[in-house]
Amino acid sequence: MAEPRSHRLPTSVIPERYEIRLTPDLIQWSFAGEVKVAVDVRQGVREVILNAAELSIQSVSIGRSDGVVFHGSAQLDGDNEQAVLNFPEILAPGKYWLQIQFTGVLNDKLHGFYRSLYKGADGQEKPLASTQFESTDARRAFPCWDEPAFKAVYQVTLVIDEKLTAISNARVVNERGLKGTEKKEVIFADSMKMSTYLVAFIVGDFEATEPVEADGIELRVLAVPGKKKLADFAVAIGKASLEHFSQYYGIPYPGDKLDLIAIPDFASGAMENLGAITFRETALLVDPDKATRAELERVADVVSHENAHMWFGDLVTMQWWNGLWLNEAFATFMEMLAVDAWKPEWRRWDSFAVSRAAAMQVDGLKSTRPIEFPVERPEEAAGMFDVLTYEKGASVLRMLEQYLGAAKFRDGIRLYLQKHAYANAETTDLWDALEESTKQPVRALMDSWIFQPGYPLVSVETSGRTIRVSQQIFRYLQDGSDSERRWHVPIFLRAGTPAGVVNKTLLLTEKEQQVEFDAPANWVVVNAGAHGFYRVRYSQELLAALRQGGMTTQLTAVERFGLVNDGWAATLAGIVSLSDYLELIDQLAGETDVNVWTTMIASFHQLHRILDNVQCKKLAQRLLVVLSPALERLGWSVRPGEDELIGQLRGDLISALGTVADDAATQDRARALFADYEHNRDSVDRNLLPALVAILAHTGGTAEYEKFFAGFENAQTPQDETRYLFALANFADAGLIDRTLDLTINGKVRTQNSPYLMRGALLNKHGRERAWSFMKAHWNEMNRLFPDNAIPRMCEGVVGLVSAELEKDVVSFFLAHPVKQGSKQIEQHLERLRVAVACQELWRSLLRS
Ligand SMILES: [Zn+2]
Repeated sequence: MAEPRSHRLPTSVIPERYEIRLTPDLIQWSFAGEVKVAVDVRQGVREVILNAAELSIQSVSIGRSDGVVFHGSAQLDGDNEQAVLNFPEILAPGKYWLQIQFTGVLNDKLHGFYRSLYKGADGQEKPLASTQFESTDARRAFPCWDEPAFKAVYQVTLVIDEKLTAISNARVVNERGLKGTEKKEVIFADSMKMSTYLVAFIVGDFEATEPVEADGIELRVLAVPGKKKLADFAVAIGKASLEHFSQYYGIPYPGDKLDLIAIPDFASGAMENLGAITFRETALLVDPDKATRAELERVADVVSHENAHMWFGDLVTMQWWNGLWLNEAFATFMEMLAVDAWKPEWRRWDSFAVSRAAAMQVDGLKSTRPIEFPVERPEEAAGMFDVLTYEKGASVLRMLEQYLGAAKFRDGIRLYLQKHAYANAETTDLWDALEESTKQPVRALMDSWIFQPGYPLVSVETSGRTIRVSQQIFRYLQDGSDSERRWHVPIFLRAGTPAGVVNKTLLLTEKEQQVEFDAPANWVVVNAGAHGFYRVRYSQELLAALRQGGMTTQLTAVERFGLVNDGWAATLAGIVSLSDYLELIDQLAGETDVNVWTTMIASFHQLHRILDNVQCKKLAQRLLVVLSPALERLGWSVRPGEDELIGQLRGDLISALGTVADDAATQDRARALFADYEHNRDSVDRNLLPALVAILAHTGGTAEYEKFFAGFENAQTPQDETRYLFALANFADAGLIDRTLDLTINGKVRTQNSPYLMRGALLNKHGRERAWSFMKAHWNEMNRLFPDNAIPRMCEGVVGLVSAELEKDVVSFFLAHPVKQGSKQIEQHLERLRVAVACQELWRSLLRS
């Protein structure tokens, strides 16, 4: 028996330049291709190994510069997704041209070279073809060295129907009709030197916006016919963020043009293909007059994120998939910087607290993972696209930036990009560059956050002039394990002393540290600015001091966010009692910040899923007392000159009152407003619409269901489409829930959305048991239909199945049905469910009197 071959490619033969010619057939869903690769044979070999998957190879040859050509044969290794090319004699070291002819399938799994369908203006289904190669799916489109370190230049030629448009990474250099056919050949310029996962080609009937100049190149947005009118907002943030990054990085945009392309079927949010960024429609196309502020922010975020990657990721790329986190964490961090600079009134770093909290929720589990971990097989990289990579990664970068100082941090980034441009880098290369520019021990600090899972709970107490801070691991389920774990924690302190307010920064590296002030502090804020990735536990005395000040005098909005979020986490962990948490909420009835309310309302919904019906009634009464005055202060209508965030807050409060607080008056008013809205679309503020839809789904029956279903089918914007679609998961009636469940697999909903509809149904307290039975019954079908990356995300819905019996069933189901592309996420969902069930048992007697 031969040794099993490694899934990693040998480095005896290195690709330098690819010429790729593809002829896709949008009727038969197939393609024919030829790739010619300039390779450097570094060691004499008879065998050339590269990646290929789901391709048939028709012919293989390799030519030497003296004109000698060897014909070879190809053997496909399906397990390792490799093609082994055999030649009749040993190829001596030197430069060669490798030529391969092949055919493949335009699949429907939204990866590789895949098909997408949309309804044209005539009501007929129209086809298009697009690519999604990250992490390891370029090999489904053409044979290649499909590992990020094999950087090369790509020259793409597409042969397509003469009426269609073709887009690739670089600009078009020539387009000519092919005589005697209805086809044309579109020839693209050479790309820069880059990794295979960034190559893209898209073919279809597209409309483009007029090019605008951005950082010296032309920028356009492309969409299927009829949707170009939704592109202006993306053009504006596309240009602004590209120019922002060019200045920040101190390097011009590395491509020769930039197209932002909306694809009707898309597995993730967007993909940073150099010069040809692809998006799902909701993340790019938007009507700025009709969309909510949050929906606009999402488009601004995603466009900025992808643009940030053009340098960080595309120009400088991770050596191997273990470094993926840095790509994503950094682009997420930069997305905040760019959007904050573009629309400071959105206070983007404050709302980032919501993302940080989502990461801390998962990272407080025993089943969390370190941000960076060794990746052997490429499918392990698939498990990296989660909240720990993006949100925790970005949070620790923000913490580092604030600790080092923004300008010094930026200088280190510039140094790193200059050193590794057109090449690959390891995570440690970034720390080295930052150490060089700041002279600070960045590597030791970051290693404690990157290679260790979890985060600390920082306790603080005072005695006289001394403030004592100490760290210990935070866990929802405490079993005493890992108690010796320590982080290098940047502590940002603000204290009120008789001499005035004093700020201090220190680095807590041991279990405990003391800080001396000149005089005893009256109050102390730890994690001032809330940039730290840790939770804070104040002594009773210090907490009382903050509460005494009404919490708005000493604490900024984002610091109050921290207080609430840490309080809720401590409640779930059993460190703080539920009644103490609800008292904290009572005290925050005067709160005016949208993000603080976001975290409060999220905790109400979680409580609602945990508590039984009798308890929920009590909870609703209590929440009514907190929520009603907050809404009364704002009123139901927009006031002239009002901040956009106020509009969002009004919507959030109404939504909470009408759902989790079950307030009949709010529900009546929401129904009346929605009726007005049906006659006159301008009668309701755009930021109110999600609340009305949520309340009507929560309280509605068949009539509302039909309305929303029609709203989904006839939507004029991607945001309306998903708003009405996802609302279908929130009805209480069993028959309506069953209809929604059927929609997930009957072909009426795109597979890019079905998994999230399913997740919504699992989280619906009234529908969760039906949803769970349905998912179990259709598990194989769903795995066949849905994109692989969506399965673990769909399964997040099981955190809503809060009962000891359901939990038992869920655990045994996943034992029998492992999810190989997301085993870690499944483990985390189960632990979150465990936390909720444990609280349910603990709180059984509460709120009953
Ligand atoms: Zn990204």
